[in-house]
Amino acid sequence: MKLKPLLLAAASASAIALIGGCASSVDTGTKLLPDQAPLLAADAKAMIARLELAPDSAGSFEARCTGALGLTESMLADLAGRTGPASVADLQFFDTMSNLAYAIGYGEAGVLAEAHPDADVRKAGEDCQQKTSDVFSQISLSRPAYDRLASIDPATLDARSAYLLNRTLRDYRRAGVDKDEATRDKIRALNNELSALSTEFNRNLREIQGSIRVAPEALTGMPQDYINAHPPGEDGLVTITTDYPDLQPVFTYSPNDDLKRELMRVNQNRAYPENVAPLRGLLEKRYELATTLGFPNFAAYVTADKMSGSPETVRAFLSDIEAAARQAAGIEYARLLSKKQQTDPAATSVGDWSRAYLAEQIRQSDYTLNSQEVRKYFAYNDVRSGIFQLVEDLFGVEIRAWDSAPVWQEDVTAHEMYQDGVLIGRFFLDMHPRDGKYKHAAAFPIRFGPTTDGVPVAALMCNFPAGDHSTGLMEHGQVETFLHEFGHLIHMMFAAQPDYANLTMGAVEWDFVEAPSQMLENWVWDYDTLAKFAVDADGNTIPPELVAKMNAARDFGSGVNTLRQLILANTSLAYYDRPPAEVNLAEDIRAWGAKLSLFEQLPETHSYASFGHLDGYSAIYYTYQWSKAISTDLFAVFEKNGLRDTATAASYRDLVLAPGSSKPAGEMIRDFLGRDWSPEAYEQQLIAAASGEKAE
Ligand SMILES: [Zn+2]
Repeated sequence: MKLKPLLLAAASASAIALIGGCASSVDTGTKLLPDQAPLLAADAKAMIARLELAPDSAGSFEARCTGALGLTESMLADLAGRTGPASVADLQFFDTMSNLAYAIGYGEAGVLAEAHPDADVRKAGEDCQQKTSDVFSQISLSRPAYDRLASIDPATLDARSAYLLNRTLRDYRRAGVDKDEATRDKIRALNNELSALSTEFNRNLREIQGSIRVAPEALTGMPQDYINAHPPGEDGLVTITTDYPDLQPVFTYSPNDDLKRELMRVNQNRAYPENVAPLRGLLEKRYELATTLGFPNFAAYVTADKMSGSPETVRAFLSDIEAAARQAAGIEYARLLSKKQQTDPAATSVGDWSRAYLAEQIRQSDYTLNSQEVRKYFAYNDVRSGIFQLVEDLFGVEIRAWDSAPVWQEDVTAHEMYQDGVLIGRFFLDMHPRDGKYKHAAAFPIRFGPTTDGVPVAALMCNFPAGDHSTGLMEHGQVETFLHEFGHLIHMMFAAQPDYANLTMGAVEWDFVEAPSQMLENWVWDYDTLAKFAVDADGNTIPPELVAKMNAARDFGSGVNTLRQLILANTSLAYYDRPPAEVNLAEDIRAWGAKLSLFEQLPETHSYASFGHLDGYSAIYYTYQWSKAISTDLFAVFEKNGLRDTATAASYRDLVLAPGSSKPAGEMIRDFLGRDWSPEAYEQQLIAAASGEKAE
């Protein structure tokens, strides 16, 4: 998998309220007096207000999780047992209840499961997520709770509450609440199994690391700081792992084809065969769930509440993008092959493992651009300050240190965001690799609000080099990823709502959620932005000519890279849009590779086993291309008005980010653009890349 973002929390983030989970004992037998409701809500708000990310022990977090979920169940029993006229108070109570379960059971537990240095605490986080899935399943299948909410007269509600109520009832029906009891029991059992499979799949991804051992000479041609960071062990051999900071520089800089091929082979077999059984289980149980709910397959189910609406729309969209990218990809491939033939005249094809290296060679020869020259200007510490400053300048916020923060590991940093002196959000940065930690790059929501319960809190988890110019030089692509993930974080901060957690960014349509982050990526190509933080070890600012060259070379590779994204998107759809018996994990991804990739593929690999999105995104990996098309449309407004035009930034923030999920994404985009969005700008950009021209 490429260094591209996962979205938010691996396990959850779809909607706060009604995520398919699983079930344990439904304890609605405990009848509570109606006047306990305010006490329960107050207890829930108190738990939400206190953050626990540095528990003393696994046991203490277990107790906290048990307490939060027990309280959630009491609230559910209370809501389900209510009589008399229903009102907005029931909806508010529902919102607090789901926010509580999310905040501790996914928010805190998600961070601890993926990043705590103590394996027992990680396990406690995993267990808590799984139990939380149970509780969400109970909530989403509680017919009495649904009936109670359904009996609220929408005419008595303000517009926001009415919108939320309508969407909540829809989500309830999607979860199967209106099925008979036997069917609901079956759904509950399926959710339970799915939650366990998901836990196993993600644990394998986090904990299984591939590596190769090579003689030091194999690293000839690599940057010196990389060689310094990889001294030989006692047996004289160097270890290179499949973690990003180890892997990526090899593909980019090493002239050694055998080394790259072997490293790719190991990387594409990571978590194989361990993840085959959990993945097959996910496909099977999700198919069963979807058909039980009346859908032909899981892809149809999971797209029904997205912007796309159906697998057919997704297929047509992917096919249009393919058509737009084909020509550029063909030209790029021919250039890569011809570059290879300069050293290997007999070459008739380019291996997948060589593409990044040859692309780097072309950037050097045809664009006189050297990535090693570029990375001199991107030391982690400077990049971090630069990204803070960009967001401060663009959106008029201020980022300060958060001194008393409960960090789970000593190199995690903590920060607060202020607007006009008022605290609007808090965040953690856990940015460097370590054993047992999450291996991708993602933003994890910990709290969404509403603001009356405290500001949003989030964590970024990435795997970048650390420090200053001696140890912390980043690839430009990593800088882009940092900013991308930061985009999710500011979306969470800016989308806090005063009233409902379920109207925040946490419930936005998934195929929109990448767009704001993808749009923000454009700023790391802007000289005025880079000039503020990109300096080399001697303090020299990145030269404008270098940034101009980076931009000239930027589109090179967009065709083949888009086709690669389409392989993943089509595979993700193909695994879920038919009965699982018709899916062949290894053959299907290979077939899409054969159809769409121009590169020679490694035989006998199993890259699906480490394709983490197959769990979290299931059928909807297309989201990245869909959001990319939206982001291209949105960015055109900034290109026209100026990237650092604060009025445009304010309008974008107010109309697209701040509403959270209080209206459909399509409407927010229309508010900003003044028309419906269209993939045309993105398609034109891909087509223009073929002629070497930059699209407007
Ligand atoms: Zn993302």
